[in-house]
Amino acid sequence: MSGLPRQLTLELTAKCNFRCPYCYCVWHEDPALAKPALDFAGWCRVLDRCAADGVDDLLFTGGEVLLLKDLLKLLAYAQKVLPGARLALFTNGSRMTEPLLRRFRKQGVYLTTSLQGLRTYQEMTGTRRSFKRQLALIARAAELKWPFAVSITITKANRDEAADLYAAAALSGASSILVAAMMAEGRGRDHLDLMLTRREWERVKREIRALPSTGVPYSFADELICTCRPQPKSLLRRFADPNRTPCPAGRAFGVISPNGTFRACLHTLAARPLEV
Ligand code: SF4
Repeated sequence: MSGLPRQLTLELTAKCNFRCPYCYCVWHEDPALAKPALDFAGWCRVLDRCAADGVDDLLFTGGEVLLLKDLLKLLAYAQKVLPGARLALFTNGSRMTEPLLRRFRKQGVYLTTSLQGLRTYQEMTGTRRSFKRQLALIARAAELKWPFAVSITITKANRDEAADLYAAAALSGASSILVAAMMAEGRGRDHLDLMLTRREWERVKREIRALPSTGVPYSFADELICTCRPQPKSLLRRFADPNRTPCPAGRAFGVISPNGTFRACLHTLAARPLEV
């Protein structure tokens, strides 16, 4: 393949300690994308290729990225071979600790976490955990003056508390907030009953826009279905956005799967080997 896009997401592990019913990770549809999982040496070779191709924006994610035992070593390697690149982690927050927060701040690694629910947190994560730890984590990062972005996915389960979720994230100290509608991808494919209609999604956006300003920048992700991949007509009829502009996936950004293959976007199953 030709050069890598400058912005890449590295899905370092398919393992996760949450069971979110809306999880968009595509190996729930095609387990081969996670097998065999790259080891530390394999990810170092991917990072070498990133350096050779001038990648300058890397997001490390999973699964749950903090379950990867070699994560800190890998971040150190990334900083060595890609000295000017922006490095970021997406974590569900369950394994984040004060020492890790401080370490990421010191290393200049940007952080994003998810806030899946308040009253619905357990239903949205498939765990017995509480949202309170997430809010405390966001607040602690704000105290340490290290940006912690928050991503909120809205389904029919947490739809009634969407505005509360936004307010809780903003008032806890989130540096920015992305509110997204659940997509019909990954494990979400088995839970289409949880998806909002386009009309319900627009109502959620209006509710959030109507809140008093918190000064926290926010944006909405409008896609309910990925149009980078072939989709059944029945799903396109239900969920495709008629006003959608062409997606720059694969050119402006791309993804490396847990097994080291390249995909154009997070939601597509089509993968190509990456020469490293
Ligand atoms: S959405 Fe994230 S936290 Fe939830 S199961 Fe998927 S990878 Fe884990």
